[in-house]
Amino acid sequence: NKAKTKGKNNYIFFSQDIVDDYDRYEMKNDLYEAVNNDGFHLVYQPKCACHTNKITGFEALIRWEHPARGFVSPESFIPVAEETGLIHPIGDWVLDEACRQIREWRDMGMTDVTVAINVSAVQFAKESILDDICGAVRRHDIPFSALIIEITEGMAMQNPQWTIEVLKGLRKKGILVHLDDFGTGFSSFNYLSRFPVDAIKIDRSFVQNIGIDQRDTSIVNALLGIVSSLGLNVVAEGVETKEQADYLQENGCLELQGFYFSRPLSSNDAAHLYKQKIIPGR
Ligand code: C2E
Ligand code: MG
Ligand code: MG
Ligand code: MG
Repeated sequence: NKAKTKGKNNYIFFSQDIVDDYDRYEMKNDLYEAVNNDGFHLVYQPKCACHTNKITGFEALIRWEHPARGFVSPESFIPVAEETGLIHPIGDWVLDEACRQIREWRDMGMTDVTVAINVSAVQFAKESILDDICGAVRRHDIPFSALIIEITEGMAMQNPQWTIEVLKGLRKKGILVHLDDFGTGFSSFNYLSRFPVDAIKIDRSFVQNIGIDQRDTSIVNALLGIVSSLGLNVVAEGVETKEQADYLQENGCLELQGFYFSRPLSSNDAAHLYKQKIIPGR
């Protein structure tokens, strides 16, 4: 919208558009409203399998459309939700809604589709996390293998013992876990080998510098080498160009995700794309 292009000095006239100035207290109240009024929805970004060029599944991303402010990024409201404890009902909703969507898609014949959800640090630290996840899967009568849990590398390292316990529990059920934003959190490779995760997602900050920044390209190479030698799969996020996609594919990435293939989509558009069996750009 117009106000965003006008810069910060105009905030007095366009304050509804300046998310930076969104008072935390006010945001907290608005979030509370949204929690109680179905104010959130999920969008779905496809992941493309390198060897088949087909969509393997989607990452579910939360969206909050504020009645007056419009789109508010999860990067700004998730931290406030975590601070206030509102992340609990929000996280429960995401989990339930993703499982409901998997059920609906399976009923439509999309029987191989997976949906990955992002779990926040606060949610992950909850004693009931394993029961919460398994409960949602059972409630919607979907296979455990249809749901993927994404936790960030930073979260995993906060309490490695707890992480290992939860991950073992998930693995036992057959729920895959992906380590998100990998490369930004300095986990020791010692821990990496002890976290029972299925794949790591290389952070987009590295992906975006492939072929541009020699050091980042080297880091990507080193990561791909270590990660695959540990028997882990690699998913790349934030792929925006053909060059990045080709490079990652040639260097052992299993799945690619990014604007080059598709932006996050409504559930209807996601299902439509999935049925076409062709991923744009490939
Ligand atoms: P993330 O899990 O690393 O998700 C990837 C983010 O990168 C998404 O932003 C996605 O829209 C964006 N992205 C994907 N491909 C590209 C690309 O090619 N280029 C660029 N520039 N960006 C791309 P989004 O949806 O704004 O989410 C941001 C973060 O908010 C997520 O990072 C995740 O940490 C958090 N988040 C999103 N949804 C949820 C949720 O349901 N629960 C929790 N706890 N956190 C969430
Ligand atoms: Mg993610
Ligand atoms: Mg990510
Ligand atoms: Mg990221």
